[in-house]
Amino acid sequence: MATGISGACEQCDWFYLGTGYPEVTKAYHDHLREEHPRTWLRR
Ligand SMILES: [Zn+2]
Repeated sequence: MATGISGACEQCDWFYLGTGYPEVTKAYHDHLREEHPRTWLRR
């Protein structure tokens, strides 16, 4: 069963659909770094 892995941002309506957790996690971090730098730095 190959299902997509989805990721969503809690602070905006950003949504990402990928094929694996590493891909989705990377995309989410890239999103945070570019769109919510303060949140990203706070991690
Ligand atoms: Zn966002």
